[in-house]
Amino acid sequence: MGQGYKLTCDHCTYTKDIYIGIGFYYFSLESIASFVKDLVLKQQIEHFQKDPATTFDAYDALYVCPSCNAVRNELFMNMRSDTSQFVTIYTCKRCKDTMRLTPLEHLVPVHLSCPECEHGQLESTFFMDWD
Ligand SMILES: [Zn+2]
Ligand SMILES: [Zn+2]
Repeated sequence: MGQGYKLTCDHCTYTKDIYIGIGFYYFSLESIASFVKDLVLKQQIEHFQKDPATTFDAYDALYVCPSCNAVRNELFMNMRSDTSQFVTIYTCKRCKDTMRLTPLEHLVPVHLSCPECEHGQLESTFFMDWD
């Protein structure tokens, strides 16, 4: 189960829908591999699938760029086996900085600056459950 949030700027018209949580397809590496488009991530999943010791976390998450405040909704994955580990990393499309995994919860202030204007702060509003 996951939650949908709407991020809105208190200063300009910027708005973005963000989906957080574990979807129906995220319970096995096989089903995750079937929809992942990123080639590096796909290869990593195939590698970990072969190892029976693998455990993993996978959920949709909010990533924020610490330099330019760009916001992305991406799949977070952390796979571990006895010999290796892989965690998804996303780089900002605008400034190439490494984006930060940012928690987003119902009615918790987000303290994020708007990616589109200088003075705006983003507010999050819960709007739906999904699965
Ligand atoms: Zn704004
Ligand atoms: Zn950036």
